[in-house]
Amino acid sequence: MQFIHFSFDKQKFTGILDKTSQTIKAFDISGVDLKYGVLPIIEMLSSGKELPAFKDEQFNLNDVEVLAPIPFPRRNIFCVGKNYLEHVKEVAASGLGSGANNNAADVPSYPIVFSKVPETVIATNNPIQRHRHVTNCLDYESELAVIIGKEGRGITKENAMDYVFGYTIVNDVSARDLQKRHQQWHIAKSLDTFCPMGPVIVTKDEIDVANTSIKCWVNNELRQDGNTSQFIFDIPTIIENLSAGITLYPGDVIATGTPSGVGVGFVPPRFLDTADIIKIQVEGIGELVNVVIE
Ligand code: MG
Repeated sequence: MQFIHFSFDKQKFTGILDKTSQTIKAFDISGVDLKYGVLPIIEMLSSGKELPAFKDEQFNLNDVEVLAPIPFPRRNIFCVGKNYLEHVKEVAASGLGSGANNNAADVPSYPIVFSKVPETVIATNNPIQRHRHVTNCLDYESELAVIIGKEGRGITKENAMDYVFGYTIVNDVSARDLQKRHQQWHIAKSLDTFCPMGPVIVTKDEIDVANTSIKCWVNNELRQDGNTSQFIFDIPTIIENLSAGITLYPGDVIATGTPSGVGVGFVPPRFLDTADIIKIQVEGIGELVNVVIE
């Protein structure tokens, strides 16, 4: 199933997208703040409730504005850094963005986890701000993101997939100069508009996350062409490490890292500028498209 959050005629809805017919059935929900998108639905399901009934009216995908599936995450977005070997190498070679890890070329022994503030989230087709006053090294990172479906702590690898609701796409937009300057990555990854998310959340049964392609184009030039089979830490390992002492909650978002081909990896680097269009495609989920504005 594909869960979608959208607006039509200035009203917000959440529903199920039928990919074949490109139509949407919207949930008939009351007592829920519709601005939270798919999050209240995930919480309902995690508490054992059934999916809500649908409204009679159906919508055509072409007629609606697609919103971020979880526009206001309850807390920071967890992000895994350096989870693809070729990306570890390109970051080390660049000398930029090595952050707090002094041995930037080393493959990490444990997942590197940082976070982005929840207010960074924007939808597909929303603009990414250039932030020229603070960065000259604006960069993109195409990523598969896990959406947690069930509360848990001390989750083992063997049980980890029981806690996954589904997946979406995230662009972990990054200011490389701020990554280097501040050592820790939080500021560099948390500027306003730095987390494009969407277009939909696809339930876990629809995607083989051991073999899913991730591609990213900048102005129609293919820059990243990876596959989740190249993960250094697979999703169960990430969930086991993260949840060892931190309770995970329904609706939590975990971005799983980016393949090689980011702007800082080129010689010379190819950072983003105003009017650049970044398109990320993850097999089975769709496309996340955002333009950079001044
Ligand atoms: Mg990243």
